[in-house]
Amino acid sequence: MELAHTADVEAFRAEARTWLRAHVPARPLPSLETAEGFAAHREWEAVLHADRWSVVSWPEEYGGRGVDIVKWLVFEEEYWAAGAPGRVSQNGINLLAPTLFDHASPQQRARVLPSMASGEVIWAQAWSEPESGSDLASLTSRAVRTEGGWLLTGQKTWSSRAAFADRAFGIFRTDPDAPKPHQGLTYLMFDLRAPGVTVRPIGRLDGKPAFAELFLDQVFAPDEDVIGEPGQGWRIAMSTTGNERGLTLRSPGRFLAAADRLVGLWRTHGDPSDTALRDRVADAVVGARAYELFTWANASRFAAGGTIGAESSLNKVFWSQYDIALHETALDLLGADAELAEGEWAEPWVFSLAGPIYAGTNEIQRDIIAERLLGLPKGRR
Ligand SMILES: Cc1cc2nc3c(=O)[nH]c(=O)nc-3n(C[C@H](O)[C@H](O)[C@H](O)COP(=O)(O)OP(=O)(O)OC[C@H]3O[C@@H](n4cnc5c(N)ncnc54)[C@H](O)[C@@H]3O)c2cc1C
Repeated sequence: MELAHTADVEAFRAEARTWLRAHVPARPLPSLETAEGFAAHREWEAVLHADRWSVVSWPEEYGGRGVDIVKWLVFEEEYWAAGAPGRVSQNGINLLAPTLFDHASPQQRARVLPSMASGEVIWAQAWSEPESGSDLASLTSRAVRTEGGWLLTGQKTWSSRAAFADRAFGIFRTDPDAPKPHQGLTYLMFDLRAPGVTVRPIGRLDGKPAFAELFLDQVFAPDEDVIGEPGQGWRIAMSTTGNERGLTLRSPGRFLAAADRLVGLWRTHGDPSDTALRDRVADAVVGARAYELFTWANASRFAAGGTIGAESSLNKVFWSQYDIALHETALDLLGADAELAEGEWAEPWVFSLAGPIYAGTNEIQRDIIAERLLGLPKGRR
């Protein structure tokens, strides 16, 4: 396998690096899980967008640069290595947008994508319900036909960033008499500020309102906000999950940059006689490199027309466990007080703890790996 990049790719890397050096804020932005931080991150999205760096892989007509997966991965490496801010628009860009590219009408794409690319409209994912997480197909929120659209009623929960976001995308039951739970569902977009929507923020471990519950009482969503055909919501939603578990949410660039910072931390805080901790730092570097190589192998497969499929579950289990191990190593290096402090390592550590739960729990991912990749018999449920 040839791992060297072409001159064209290296020129793209140089352009991205130069731009990031000139534009990445000198000091970290406030946490995006606060109102102030959310606003600051939205402004950063606009800065990225002004020079078409917010969605590099999208077609130019929607604000992107139309680059292939190789250049996207290179951009991600440069982005995270430059210490650039986390992406407040990631639910929209990584989850809704691929769904729209696959299933929306050209009119919908033209209407929704540009304001997503600029950060003007920030999206929340409204899938989970109090009794429907892993077993998402059991969801009970419903959409009832009305003139020109649908009336949405029910409760959604764990909606990341919905406390401050503008719009949401979710799945609703439109045919309660369908013979199977995953039938009769419809994929809809709606306005979080529409009449009938109550957004109740949920505090995270550190108290920040990183999630919200959404209570919907006859919320109007026009026909133009249905994605795909009514009743086809499950099929459409399942095409989104590969993106969530796969590359887009956790590109190797994030981990390569974090592993680099961890090595820096070892140099300033490490005790050379603590070989166990030193080995954990080395493991983090090896893990980031292994994930990078695995990703390039996947990228070659995609470039040859392949898709991610059940392999996205391998990615998911790996990155979620890796993220926790890396951050715990950093906190152990810093000492006990690090867990109490705000900052570079503590907040991402809190977030890493949730990795095995969101985007489909790791127990479920292991079942998928066992059944679909290894061909093992179905487990007892
Ligand atoms: C940080 C974070 C962000 C999130 N953001 C969003 C968001 O933006 N939008 C959204 O819609 N949702 C979001 N979620 C919700 C997330 O998708 C659910 O928490 C997840 O799907 C698990 O569902 P649950 O919490 O209902 O747990 P359950 O499904 O009740 O699972 C509880 C436990 O039982 C295990 N289990 C369940 N069924 C099986 C089975 N068949 N076989 C083996 N084990 C099983 C699970 O693996 C888990 O360990 C977020 C969650 C977190 C933690």
